[in-house]
Amino acid sequence: MNTIENAKEIISSYKRDDGKKLRIMEVCGTHTHEIFRLGIRKLLPESVELISGPGCPVCVTPIGFIDEACMLALQKGAVICTFGDLIRVPGTEMSLAGARSKGAVIKTVYSPLDAVSYAESHRDEQVVFLAVGFETTTPSACLAVEKAKKLGLENFSILGANKTMPNAYKALEGSADAFLYPGHVNAITGTAVCEELVKKGVSGVVTGFTAAELLTALAVTIELSQRGEPFFRNCYPRVVKPEGNPAAIKLMEKVMTPCDSEWRGLGIIPMSGMILRDEYADFDARKKFSLPKITGKPNPVCRCGDVLQGKCKPSDCKVFGKVCTPLHPIGACMVSNEGACSAYYQYGNL
Ligand code: SF4
Repeated sequence: MNTIENAKEIISSYKRDDGKKLRIMEVCGTHTHEIFRLGIRKLLPESVELISGPGCPVCVTPIGFIDEACMLALQKGAVICTFGDLIRVPGTEMSLAGARSKGAVIKTVYSPLDAVSYAESHRDEQVVFLAVGFETTTPSACLAVEKAKKLGLENFSILGANKTMPNAYKALEGSADAFLYPGHVNAITGTAVCEELVKKGVSGVVTGFTAAELLTALAVTIELSQRGEPFFRNCYPRVVKPEGNPAAIKLMEKVMTPCDSEWRGLGIIPMSGMILRDEYADFDARKKFSLPKITGKPNPVCRCGDVLQGKCKPSDCKVFGKVCTPLHPIGACMVSNEGACSAYYQYGNL
């Protein structure tokens, strides 16, 4: 397939005579937004359904994590450094923005190393970086911890909710006929994970983020799905190499180790998270501040959990666009720039 026009033709002419739909899950929240923004949904025939998945790091971070961060800020006096998206995510009682209005110090940073720099120049403050995200962002959190250790910073730690994708794909088995794998994640992990999933009957295609890359990936998915057997293709070879990024993988393995992890909507997925190794325990905010185990309580009207599993569309949530909007979000999926509810709100219920 050479051109965008070829891809469009394959997508728009796809028909099924069994009355079913080919269900394709965009695992990555950025894919969801780009597919909307580029108008690709308008090209899809009746027989193709796109489902949003759990690939938005802010969205899958459980409510209890926000509660822990609020406790650190309000009760332990820590300065919280975080990416901006997390600040407005509702916790059980309040968001970090709410904590800030009660006097907590919440700082927006653009990388974990910014938080280390802040800690280095404010030695009399305890600085906690909120480390969330997948294989794409975890290496930078590990780099920050390494740097803090080298600098001998006793006032820096991370509150971690880092996650890895392979076991999430297994947990999502059956929710779609094929996955659009997140290119950013595969750029780090490589493609062996996807090859392994094919052996277990899970199909998918790695894709990038441009119109040409997304259209090609959808067309390839449609073509391969008609062969009737599990498949995998790397449609993002300019960035994703089979071996991934060995230096980033080595750094993650040095600083962190796999653990069970709670995902909003998906519950605890075994070995789907990363925590600091014992050698780095001094930089683990939960240990440093002796945080109690906190289980967050979601707002009962919010269907983020179902949205993240592809069980419903954001527009199926009864408060979507009415009570819940980007200005007044009820759940994480409406807050984050990568959230499915935010995409549906921004680009329309297509
Ligand atoms: Fe949750 Fe709002 Fe999305 Fe409904 S529209 S699922 S309340 S984030």
